[in-house]
Amino acid sequence: MRVPTPSFMQVLKFGGTSVANGANILRVLDIVLEAARQDTVVVVVSALGGITDALMAAGQRAAAGQAAYQELLLHIEQRHLEAVKELIPVASQSAALSQVKRRCNELEAICSSVFALGELSARTLDRLMSFGELLSSQLVAARLQATGTAHAWHDSRALIRTNSRFGAAEVDFATTNQLIRDCVAAGPQAIHVVPGFIAADAAGTTTTLGRGGSDYSGAIFAVALQASRLEIWTDVSGMMTADPRLVRHAQPIAHISYQEAMELSHFGAKVLYPPTIQPVMHAGIPLRIKNTFAPADYGTLVEVAPPRTRDTVRGISSIGGLTLLNLEGSGMVGVPGFSKRLFEALARERVNVILITQSSSEHSISVAVGAADAERARTAVDEEFAHEISTRRLEPLRLETGLAIVALVGESMKNHPGISGRLFSALGHNGVNIRAIAQGSSEKNISTVIQASDVKKAINVLHEAFFEVEYKQINVFIVGVGNVGRKLLGQLQQQQRYLLDKLQLQLRVVALANSRQYVLDPNGLDLNTWEDRLAQGQELQLNDLVEQIHALNLRNSVFVDVTAAAEVADCYAALLAKSVAVVACNKVACASAYQNYARLKSLAREFNTSFLFETNVGAALPVIGTLNDLLRSGDVVQRMEAVLSGTLNFVFNHYDGRRPFAEVVRQAQDEGYTEPDPRLDLSGTDVARKILILAREAGVTMEMADIDNTAFLPAACLAGDVPAFYEQLAAHESHFRQLYDAATAAGRKLRFVASYNDGQAAVGLQAVGPDHDLYQLKGKDNVVLFYTNRYAEQPLVVKGAGAGADVTAAGVFADLMRAARV
Ligand code: ADP
Ligand code: ASP
Ligand code: MG
Repeated sequence: MRVPTPSFMQVLKFGGTSVANGANILRVLDIVLEAARQDTVVVVVSALGGITDALMAAGQRAAAGQAAYQELLLHIEQRHLEAVKELIPVASQSAALSQVKRRCNELEAICSSVFALGELSARTLDRLMSFGELLSSQLVAARLQATGTAHAWHDSRALIRTNSRFGAAEVDFATTNQLIRDCVAAGPQAIHVVPGFIAADAAGTTTTLGRGGSDYSGAIFAVALQASRLEIWTDVSGMMTADPRLVRHAQPIAHISYQEAMELSHFGAKVLYPPTIQPVMHAGIPLRIKNTFAPADYGTLVEVAPPRTRDTVRGISSIGGLTLLNLEGSGMVGVPGFSKRLFEALARERVNVILITQSSSEHSISVAVGAADAERARTAVDEEFAHEISTRRLEPLRLETGLAIVALVGESMKNHPGISGRLFSALGHNGVNIRAIAQGSSEKNISTVIQASDVKKAINVLHEAFFEVEYKQINVFIVGVGNVGRKLLGQLQQQQRYLLDKLQLQLRVVALANSRQYVLDPNGLDLNTWEDRLAQGQELQLNDLVEQIHALNLRNSVFVDVTAAAEVADCYAALLAKSVAVVACNKVACASAYQNYARLKSLAREFNTSFLFETNVGAALPVIGTLNDLLRSGDVVQRMEAVLSGTLNFVFNHYDGRRPFAEVVRQAQDEGYTEPDPRLDLSGTDVARKILILAREAGVTMEMADIDNTAFLPAACLAGDVPAFYEQLAAHESHFRQLYDAATAAGRKLRFVASYNDGQAAVGLQAVGPDHDLYQLKGKDNVVLFYTNRYAEQPLVVKGAGAGADVTAAGVFADLMRAARV
């Protein structure tokens, strides 16, 4: 006979997924039998995955008078009968089948009384829920029985003694320890199977330990038996750096301290039920989290002093469904006892306080509680302070709902400055508004209260900032797949691999739109097949697209406008106000009313994001960037002189009277240098927009109407549509010929020049001589001469190709990288 001694005892707890069906239970038993080769093993089992929820739902339906509760009971019975059939040879199934049927009959009897009474008390609910673990643990025992493995099954209700707080009963450890020791230590078996989650009060009435409470049962058995270890077997390979359902790149944490594990689970890491840790920590029992489906994985070891790692933050977790209670008023300042009364009022109502912050002025205290407790808390607090409220020394309690906490956890954070800074900047750049913050003085935990709808984004942003230094995701929304858009997609596709390998940047195009349709895929579109996807896309409503961008709420979102459309420019404000960066080669916004331009710039500043439009002037040439650099470093722009139209420069460099002017313009359009509407170029309007944008960027308040535009086109050319425009160009050939001949005769060249001088801007055709800076300007090149305080005599010159889809796309790409702050 084997007499177990405490040091040869292990407690293994298996969660709902681990025992979800017969096949999984077989895996569980492999693990158990392996452990039992060395030690006595206590196996604590959860209900089959989903059964506790089904039991609750059945009770609630019955109480609501819905006979459909019976369907749920049938489903519950079915799942267990199936598991019996998977686990036990046909010849010996009958005992196990009838055991399941007996339990299910009992269950049916309870539910029908609930149905008859139309009432479900907490006490009855506990009784109902207990069937999940009773059934699952008996299934495990039945399999051991069928395979002739020595074992004992015990009803935890005879072993774990609690008070009568149904739903989340508190354990009487002295009695429990004795009951467990007497029972388990006395038995000869090497394997003991017990249901998790359930217990009983002194009267023997069934209680439960709270949802997820089987973990806690494991700890209770481990402590009572002074086990050498407690293993929590679940469906993931350990406690992870973040909830793997929210963060794709979450990684298991190999080593963690009890304190850290406690903080993570307290702040929502569901993998471990929070009360589990305290008892094993006190008893010095190592706690391990392992994956039933990958038993060879290391898992997580929770211990006193885990080895140091590079990561200062050990993990990130979150809890949703919170309400912030704000108590405010001048009456609190300097008066002792307010917080005491506040917390006593909350305690009387058994309101669980999750986070507390107090402003240093003592003007306000904020307390985060579960939403279900909020109204009770309000009544209790307003009653407690009724006198102060009536005398206006305090405001009535103010509630903010729909909130969540995201917490960074790690004991070595206290030795590392700058963690909060990184947290604030990562969240700030992504438009996540922080409603409250708390940092324990022990600095194991920095908690932020944010909107529940921001949780997924916030956790991913923080996970990137603290665990994926080498990996950043940029989410791009592109509107426009014309000349430039196509080239941009080609460049992105070509660079995707490079960005990932060299810059650790995952650039994902999440949405793509032309003027009619759009396609959106939260996981990123395949840039090899975007044309097909877009062809099957949905009808485009820009407002809907913007709403979807907001609803997706993805981190590092950048909206790219490669259209020339005013409707698209009208969306920028809504995007910037939600911290979505905007990159535009579309000039409409920056050349619109000054007020609109200024508002977009200030929205970008206010919401900590970028509004970038380098390609508005000179395609990819660093014109706006250079201008900004000059100003930021204290220089002052006196004068600018520029050729800013690739189209016009191309036209005047190619027109020599031998081919008609109209034909040369047509060639410029065919080669992709013109605006979609070439009249914008030829009329000088496009150049006027550019010098306007430069003047504005130089700090001048200016409108389009302030620019002096001396047209060189006969008015008739602009009277009709684009085909009429070309006809009129042809009809006025002699006019263009004359301009050319006059210039050539004087040894000059025609340049369409934009100039800015001391607050005044003008555009117009000039014939410039060989000694002029603008004379030598080939092809479709642009040039900008900046005369500033520092560049007073010789200008700072930016020169190069100023038009063309390829270079414009490259400029947009560069802005995109800047917006992503790479
Ligand atoms: P069990 O039924 O085994 O008790 P639970 O569903 O209660 O399993 O807990 C495991 C689940 O917890 C995982 O599948 C995972 O989705 C979720 N989870 C949330 N946060 C974390 C985290 N930080 N680390 C690991 N798992 C987590
Ligand atoms: N079955 C219970 C629940 O779902 C206890 C547990 O699985 O830990 O809450
Ligand atoms: Mg669990």
